[in-house]
Amino acid sequence: MAPFSDVTPPMSSQRPGGVSTIDTHYMYPGRAAAYLVADGDEAAFIDAGTRFSVPYLMQALEAAGLGPDHVKFIIVTHVHLDHCGGAAALARECPGATVLCHPRSERHLIDPSKLVASATPVYGAEQFAKLYGEIEPIAAARVRSVADGESVALGGRSLEFLDTPGHAKHHVSVLDRKANAMFTGDAFGLCYPPLQRGTRPYLNYVCSPPQFEPEAARVVIRRIMATQVGRVYVTHFGPCDAVQEGGEQLLRMVDEFDEAVNRAAATTLEGPRLLTYCAEQALEITQRELRACGLDTEDRKIMKWALSEHSVTSQGLELLARERRAAARA
Ligand SMILES: [Zn+2]
Repeated sequence: MAPFSDVTPPMSSQRPGGVSTIDTHYMYPGRAAAYLVADGDEAAFIDAGTRFSVPYLMQALEAAGLGPDHVKFIIVTHVHLDHCGGAAALARECPGATVLCHPRSERHLIDPSKLVASATPVYGAEQFAKLYGEIEPIAAARVRSVADGESVALGGRSLEFLDTPGHAKHHVSVLDRKANAMFTGDAFGLCYPPLQRGTRPYLNYVCSPPQFEPEAARVVIRRIMATQVGRVYVTHFGPCDAVQEGGEQLLRMVDEFDEAVNRAAATTLEGPRLLTYCAEQALEITQRELRACGLDTEDRKIMKWALSEHSVTSQGLELLARERRAAARA
């Protein structure tokens, strides 16, 4: 039995429902995707990758038989730099495109100085320059925020926006009924194809600081499942058709992370020791869930993919543990 034949290999040459999956070549192949939705002679990019991703996006546009003037929208799911770092460079390539985003993202796309200032220490200046290069501002006149439930027309289809916090408060997802799919950025977790070869789908959630909110995450995951779409396009990585079963997996992981935060908050650990504790908790949860999905935790490749966001999640858990501890004392 091939349980995950429903996970289509990501290939730019395939355009089911008018959707192209584009490898943004962030860090290494298969790590992060952007999407092109083409309908008639209108197109939209969903997420931009980094500025170094732009040539791959433009190639996908050409492969779809379209040019820069056909791009009507550049949609930024949220302002984490692996999603939005290339938005300004892409907007320059596509001069007629309007950049659509969450209301909380708008000012950061127009003036990215705060994004740069908060992300630079995480990577160090040298690594930051290598991963992201320069983050340019986008002219305010080209950026427009979208409200929950708002729709835009693209060719013969409608793209509907949903406010999808949990991973970040500035996150929107895009519902495309014509493609029977939703573009979920990081709001419906990660679904790496190498981790879909077990006995059931393995999706995991990135508990990104400073805005990981377990309850919001659960509400959003259930809301996405309730749309009954047949496919989610996640940034990390590609199309995932196991929406219901994958959603159950995600809800379980969010619950486990939530409980780990409570355990961490109940300790007297501080500083690096609290972070280490959270990292150990996250590792245990990951290993347990991998095994429950029939995946081999001794397999180095599996662990590489499964722990791709481990340090981010550990930091997100630690920060929330400190916040809960402070709230309990107040
Ligand atoms: Zn993110």
